[in-house]
Amino acid sequence: MRFPAENLSDIERIFLIRMGLTKASVYDGSGMRRSDAQAAAKKVGAILISGASPCKAEGHRLRTRKGHCAQCNIIAVDKLKRYYSSGYVYIAFSGELNSCKVGSTTDLKERLKRLRGSSYGGVADWVIYNAINVDSAALIEGQLHLKLDGFKASGEYYFDGQDFRYPRELYNISPSEAWIFLLDLAQDSA
Ligand SMILES: [Zn+2]
Repeated sequence: MRFPAENLSDIERIFLIRMGLTKASVYDGSGMRRSDAQAAAKKVGAILISGASPCKAEGHRLRTRKGHCAQCNIIAVDKLKRYYSSGYVYIAFSGELNSCKVGSTTDLKERLKRLRGSSYGGVADWVIYNAINVDSAALIEGQLHLKLDGFKASGEYYFDGQDFRYPRELYNISPSEAWIFLLDLAQDSA
């Protein structure tokens, strides 16, 4: 069986444990063409491929779905893991700005507290208009930002506790319209 992968070495198993992953994140791509293995892994939602051609540096045979050596590129693995882990994609609304903010989180309550506490975009009247729990929260959030690109709004710098930041996730769109965009994306990915 190619998924979940059964052909893992002890070192690879330990690597997975260290990364907080299980073999359910790994597709067995041994003997397959790289592009075929990548497509098959994507289909089942695996972020790693085992039995790949050895990496040049250390001879590792675990690759990310994007083709990086997993064991040499912990950051890439972490990024994929975050991208494809479940969470909420939310639409927040400020009446004062008449704008939406979209984002993803695993903790809506905490996120709302932070939006208000940091005065995201220069205002503190944020409410969560709606949110949906999805398998790949950061991925869907990224797709939503692309969809909403034409609605981008400007806002004031805010302090996130460490730095002053520009609010890059503000949109001049009604929350109900933004929500329809989000539902479409969530449906496509289901
Ligand atoms: Zn390597």
